[in-house]
Amino acid sequence: MKARLAASLAILVTLFLLTAYLSARISREKTGPLFGGMIDPHVVPASAKESGELKTRAVVLIVLDGLRWQEVFDGPDHALMDEKHGGAQDVKQLRKDFWRDTPAEGRQTLMPFLWSVVAKQGEIYGNQHKGSIAQVTNGMKFSYPGYNEMTTGQPDKRIDSNEYGPNPNTTVFEWLNNEPDFHDQVAVFATWNAFNDIFNVKRSGLFVRAGWDLPWAQQLTPREQLLKTLYETTTRVEDDDVFDSFTQQDLLDYIGTHSPRVLFVGYGGTDDWAHEGKYDLVLQAAHQDDQFISELWNTMQSVPAYHDKVTFIVTTDHGRGSGLEQWKNHDRDIDGAENIWIGIIGPDTPPLGEMTNIPRVTQSQIAATIAALLGQDYRATDPRAALPLPVARRWTGSNIPPAK
Ligand SMILES: [Zn+2]
Repeated sequence: MKARLAASLAILVTLFLLTAYLSARISREKTGPLFGGMIDPHVVPASAKESGELKTRAVVLIVLDGLRWQEVFDGPDHALMDEKHGGAQDVKQLRKDFWRDTPAEGRQTLMPFLWSVVAKQGEIYGNQHKGSIAQVTNGMKFSYPGYNEMTTGQPDKRIDSNEYGPNPNTTVFEWLNNEPDFHDQVAVFATWNAFNDIFNVKRSGLFVRAGWDLPWAQQLTPREQLLKTLYETTTRVEDDDVFDSFTQQDLLDYIGTHSPRVLFVGYGGTDDWAHEGKYDLVLQAAHQDDQFISELWNTMQSVPAYHDKVTFIVTTDHGRGSGLEQWKNHDRDIDGAENIWIGIIGPDTPPLGEMTNIPRVTQSQIAATIAALLGQDYRATDPRAALPLPVARRWTGSNIPPAK
């Protein structure tokens, strides 16, 4: 027992030294002082601390690009699990992996973390069969307008192309990063290169790692060197969208050495494969992303700075069409592509599970929700931004502790 304790202590000390070393090295690589990203217990808003109400200290917004509410709530669509309509490479294997008799079994198999953890301990909006509608309000029903809407709190008609360029609007991520309590504790990890523009890196100064061509430090660990080599030598299926698995590893490295309080994670595989007409790969990507979210959740829960202090919001930027062909597509002319879904889990989220028979919620409500969960009133700066989701309504307006 004593030997075990000594061994545990030795491991702890080694881990601490390793963390300090890695943190110092990555700080040099990018902005921020040593342990600059660590959560400081002294910055808990006073009133929240006293009332013991608001427990969230960090928020992670995770987006699975273009994953339909139909797959999320009904599970895989049997009509698309073939070669003709779903472009499946191995129909037998696909059906073995994802074909289940009921929607409940299908969705549980497709996204086990979402259904056994988020939808049990948190809330999920958007099951239209049960009177819950979640929608985008931008009318465009494609990515840049959707990411702009969810991160700024309102649609912007000017943004009518994915190649729009630097975002003229300030996202809630930039807004929080400008607050002393959150400065240099905001980070963006995403597969799609366009996030450099969506978060306007030149103006915002946000820490953004997106796309294939990332800046790498001079000195790399063997693991980082391997990841860099894979980024540089892998054949690009999409020139502007890296594989989810690459972004995940880059993100895990960062989480291990920094402790961001506000994090954006953008996975792109679900949209890429749908455009290619490969339904089998859409399902595989959704399933893998669900595992990535689980990995992220468990990794963060194992760290004291995050344990029972982090809220995840999981959503999509747009829906898609329906039927045997239109599931591949989405834009302003595709019926149903405005429908999305939103899941939330965290210490301040009541475990209401699958929301039923409630008023419509919108993508634009996500921005103020992120801020409210961190004790901040995003709408104080821009009242045009949509209200937070019901989960965070109690910390809005006069209930929100004043920003320092
Ligand atoms: Zn798309």
